[in-house]
Amino acid sequence: MVELQQAPVLLRARSASFGYAGRALLSGVDVELRAGELFAVVGPNGSGKTTLLRGLLGLLPPLAGAVECDRRRVGYVPQREALDPLYPLTTGELVEQGAIARLGRFGHVRRRDRRGAVLALERVGLADRASSPFAALSGGQRQRALIARALLMDPLVLFMDEPTSGADPVAASAVLELVTSLVRERGLAVVLVAHHLAALRPHTDRALFVHCGRVERGALSELDDPHRALHIFRGEGAHSP
Ligand code: ADP
Repeated sequence: MVELQQAPVLLRARSASFGYAGRALLSGVDVELRAGELFAVVGPNGSGKTTLLRGLLGLLPPLAGAVECDRRRVGYVPQREALDPLYPLTTGELVEQGAIARLGRFGHVRRRDRRGAVLALERVGLADRASSPFAALSGGQRQRALIARALLMDPLVLFMDEPTSGADPVAASAVLELVTSLVRERGLAVVLVAHHLAALRPHTDRALFVHCGRVERGALSELDDPHRALHIFRGEGAHSP
């Protein structure tokens, strides 16, 4: 029998520890992200989900161990509330900003990037909103514009911080549909911090459980077992070493 070839590994954390001021909040983190995988990061408040994201993204250097990936091909979609609602840019300009990470702070947006922004807006279904103020978009539309901005870096790995928070169920499901289709068509690896687990279930079963100072790979369906759910969510919060 021919064995199916496994998709390539796009990011690997080996025995990594992440934390602040030299104190590890998460330790022994061994994570492998392969092309075409969508992971939900799940755990109680304060358990270290954002810390894990920042560590894998390279914003927080590991206190021990290592994270290996091609940093030029990593994208980040912040919570849409993280942007000032008065952000005085059109949606098109916001998306063009996605090229700035590549150009450097003083780089100019080039024609190629303008074209890239148009294509990215088309891909997320916002082609007709390019000249609307970003602030005038609905919550779900803002989230899709932020995804378009991240696509400008042509990422292989995409991290998203609570992409469905505050969105109504229809908008949340449109965002998750978009993410799933990007995973499929581009072979992206996506890691998203999520609270709306029921909305995610049709899209993925892959989970990274963050609890008690550890990151454990598992399946969202494990949470159907009340004992398992209690174990993960029993509210221990941050790990006390
Ligand atoms: P979650 O995303 O699961 O809610 P976080 O990763 O945001 O958890 O936070 C985990 C713990 O790390 C919390 O106790 C939080 O107070 C602490 N923490 C977060 N950011 C910092 C920081 N910059 N400096 C020190 N402690 C922090």
